[in-house]
Amino acid sequence: MAKITVLVNGANGRMGREVVKAVLNDPDLSLVAAVDRSGEGMDAGILAGMPACGVTLSTDLAQTMETTHPMVMVDFTQPQAVFGNVQIALEHKVAAVVGTTGLSEEQLAQIRLWTEQNATSCLVAPNFAIGALLMMRFAREASRFFPHVEIIELHHDQKLDAPSGTAIKTAELIQEERQALQQGHPQEKELINGARGAAFEGMRIHSVRLPGLVAHQEVIFGSVGQTLVIRHDSINRESFMPGVLAAVHRIREVSGLIYGLENLLF
Ligand code: NAP
Repeated sequence: MAKITVLVNGANGRMGREVVKAVLNDPDLSLVAAVDRSGEGMDAGILAGMPACGVTLSTDLAQTMETTHPMVMVDFTQPQAVFGNVQIALEHKVAAVVGTTGLSEEQLAQIRLWTEQNATSCLVAPNFAIGALLMMRFAREASRFFPHVEIIELHHDQKLDAPSGTAIKTAELIQEERQALQQGHPQEKELINGARGAAFEGMRIHSVRLPGLVAHQEVIFGSVGQTLVIRHDSINRESFMPGVLAAVHRIREVSGLIYGLENLLF
């Protein structure tokens, strides 16, 4: 079977380096290109803490696609860059596996259109950790019985967007399942702006940013005389790699836009 050829965008970043390592270690995948704003000319393998692999970092995504013809692009860049990157990939008929968070509803609708116009596919996954997908699924289920809920997401302090894509997705899933509910006291007053977190359809989302954290989330349900806490911790970035690799393997078997890894795997 021919190997799946892969371009990693953001290959000099924390997630990108992990993806480079995972792709190089997968016998069914072939790393053909690595793109980033920084590190031009450096070997992607060495940057990822591996032996040299012969693929050096380039900075021009479109040009790199035209010279290396990857089948799949994996994007872990920045919220401000990802939309343009996905456009370039899909217009080159390269399937996209996107981990970068921060895409809006309108941008997702446009991405769906591009996949249709170019007969290709794109996965946008707020979280590639399988345990996080299960946490979201269990939270949705619990909200049928415990409609009072708050979400606390905790990430490293270099994260640019808040709340996290996972927290928003969790809230959306809960909203689909539970009865409509405005939580908290109707006369509740914040003495310091933001004290009660972000409001989403009657529930609250809180974002913690601290050095030392990777990606964590607690979903706390409260009821009469009892609470239920569902918690997931990514203790390092390797936790995302089985999900990323599964997506790279499967993305070309589907068409259109898929939002959420669970809709590709489960
Ligand atoms: P990071 O360490 O800052 O890495 C991002 C890399 O992309 C940096 O090297 C950055 O270069 C580069 N970059 C920025 N704009 C670019 C562009 N237009 N073209 C090419 N490269 C570009 O960030 P990270 O921690 O790896 O996270 C990356 C993204 O993944 C974030 O949105 C984060 O929230 C998300 N994430 C998702 C998951 C998931 O499971 N879905 C898990 C973890 C993280 P500079 O350093 O020059 O800016």
